[in-house]
Amino acid sequence: MITGKTKLLGVIGDPVSHSLSPAMHNAAIAHLNLDYVYLPFPVKREDLEKAIAGFTAINLVGFNITIPHKQSIIPLLTEISPSAQMVGAVNTVWWSEKGWCGTNTDVEGFCAPLKHISRSWSKITPVILGNGGAARAVVVGCSTLGCPEIIVVGRNRSKLDQFRSSWQNSPLEGRVRVVSNEELPRLVAKTELLINATPIGMYPQVEQCPVDETTIAQLQPGAIAYDLIYTPNETQFLYRAKKRGAIPINGLEMLVRQGAAALEKWLGRTVPIEIMSQTLQQLI
Ligand code: NAP
Repeated sequence: MITGKTKLLGVIGDPVSHSLSPAMHNAAIAHLNLDYVYLPFPVKREDLEKAIAGFTAINLVGFNITIPHKQSIIPLLTEISPSAQMVGAVNTVWWSEKGWCGTNTDVEGFCAPLKHISRSWSKITPVILGNGGAARAVVVGCSTLGCPEIIVVGRNRSKLDQFRSSWQNSPLEGRVRVVSNEELPRLVAKTELLINATPIGMYPQVEQCPVDETTIAQLQPGAIAYDLIYTPNETQFLYRAKKRGAIPINGLEMLVRQGAAALEKWLGRTVPIEIMSQTLQQLI
């Protein structure tokens, strides 16, 4: 039951009505029998500052941030974590005595399924397809795992140049190699970790694949093929990689774990990851 004592959490974005986070978080809160509620707050680009001031006024405990506010929230925060600084985006904010603080739990979410797999990460050079927002979290995640060099492959030269220069003066300077699509076949043949951080193959374009049949045939058996997409459950990318003997990972655990890391931050306790995962699986 919601009362005057119920503590508030939420997600801001525009649009935000499609967000799966309210269902996932409220299921965990109900399971823990806590007096919290997690709400979607549609906030337009131009209203971000007013919304944050309002959250301070009503003592919101914390909130998630989705498009288009993940970067523009940063100047409004008192402190951000080193990983959010490197990613250049914040997806989780909490109130502390210092003010609003932020981090990027996509990094932790991305790493979670890889931690089940025993590999010498310091000997692996991951290859990331795509150079958008998620690719940035993946780069930081791979560096956190201990990969010394990370290769990012994209299609648009000017965006690739921007992506390359964005790591200058960061702890990852010199460790992120940014290349164009033509190099992909050679890179796929060598890597033990190939990650799709593009939306290619996502529902409803389920027949599409970010890597052509000949290129994916170069993948080493036992390599990890990680698709950030979670609908469908098995993308063409994962299907083809699995046929080559690769280990497939889809984006569901990343989605659950980035949410769980945020909820743990707000509640200061462990959260029921399995309940969060089951709730999402019923919705997607
Ligand atoms: P984004 O910022 O829009 O970036 C998408 C990237 O994919 C860009 O580099 C873009 O290239 C490239 N791309 C898009 N369409 C392409 C095409 N047809 N051919 C070649 N490249 C193409 O998106 P994002 O936020 O990074 O998200 C990427 C994917 O990750 C989405 O499917 C999203 O759902 C998923 N994701 C999953 C999780 C999770 O928790 N599992 C979290 C975040 C994101 P250009 O720059 O050249 O346009």
